[in-house]
Amino acid sequence: MDIHEYQAKDLLTRFGVQVPRGGIAYSPEQAVYRASELSGDKWVVKAQIHSGARGKAGGVRICSSEEEVSDAATWMLGRKLVTHQTGPQGKLVSRLYVEEATSIAHEIYLGFVMDRKLERVVVVASAQGGMEIEEISEQEPESIIRSVVDPAVGMQAFQAREIAFSLGLEPPLIAQAVKTIMGCYRLMAEMDANMVEVNPMVVTQAGEIVALDAKVSFDDNALFRRPEIAELRDKSQEDTRETYAEDRGLSYIGLDGEIGCIVNGAGLAMATLDMIKMSGGEPANFLDVGGGASPERVLKSFKAVLNDPNVEAILVNIFAGINRCDWIAEGVVLAMKELELTLPVVVRLSGTNVEEGRKVLDDSGLPVITADTLAEAADSVVGAWKDAKFKEAS
Ligand code: GDP
Ligand code: MN
Repeated sequence: MDIHEYQAKDLLTRFGVQVPRGGIAYSPEQAVYRASELSGDKWVVKAQIHSGARGKAGGVRICSSEEEVSDAATWMLGRKLVTHQTGPQGKLVSRLYVEEATSIAHEIYLGFVMDRKLERVVVVASAQGGMEIEEISEQEPESIIRSVVDPAVGMQAFQAREIAFSLGLEPPLIAQAVKTIMGCYRLMAEMDANMVEVNPMVVTQAGEIVALDAKVSFDDNALFRRPEIAELRDKSQEDTRETYAEDRGLSYIGLDGEIGCIVNGAGLAMATLDMIKMSGGEPANFLDVGGGASPERVLKSFKAVLNDPNVEAILVNIFAGINRCDWIAEGVVLAMKELELTLPVVVRLSGTNVEEGRKVLDDSGLPVITADTLAEAADSVVGAWKDAKFKEAS
């Protein structure tokens, strides 16, 4: 789960990391009021969306008057900001963070990620901050410092000091940099985060180390024991299709294609996506209905798949062990009747009660297309989808 920059900064301060002073605003008037509360004559208005690279998209504006603050806020609020991380649909800006501006002497990249191969937290740092890490690794690969944390002892001060020295920081800044690095690590380890990125961590002209931007994401599977973190969730920033499915207890991931998928088992669901692609189609989603799925659960799955407006055909692929093909078939019939489906539906059933399942489909009199193997099912659904499209066009 991702959180907003202002939330991440609030957490970081609890671990001793220094951040600029700021306040949240939901309207231009509030933004101006926030600026007036802060000392100084320069402010930064920052769009709060779950994405980096906001600066290049106009989502970070340095302002030197209340009027500029108001204008920046007016421009950002209600806008769908498109960055290279959001996809073309962008993300809606409904909150702003107004900060006192910082005079920057130097921008540094600091990131903490889980390295799955090493099964360790790895610190990635570079003296070439401000750019995205992808750009740094392309343009300045030799500037990247990597340091692996031993989980038995956690991040040690000497290790943080080593990183700070490798970044070329002057001796008076080392202690502050160590405090920042240690603080980020503790947030990661103690709050079940799986990513902490401070980009940039800056050296200010006054000679201080400040976290100017912060991105933190958390392990969804640990949220049950972090209610305080779970509360920071902003569903408006998430894929609406996934939130809809998750609220109904379904394991669903949204994709970009047209073929909706309802499958049992995560492995078979993945294989189904591959087969659809091999047959020349594009899957619209991953969906695992789970074991022992009732007809009502199948109906729910159809609703979740159809909640995606791009879906133009549906493939139901069930290899029933714990599941029962007759229940699945009843669910398909229920969904097709209740939702008055007109798009092509291909069903492949195999395993427990398969004969009973086929009979339910046959007796329904509905135009269900059936298939025996996964390959046949994938071919049929892509074929049926193309036919339907052709008919529509002609
Ligand atoms: P991002 O584009 O979403 O990563 O947003 P950031 O918060 O990292 O801001 C983008 C860039 O704006 C930073 O790399 C800085 O160069 C610049 N910036 C942000 N805040 C300030 C500030 O207070 N003062 C100055 N001078 N530049 C800033
Ligand atoms: Mn940034």
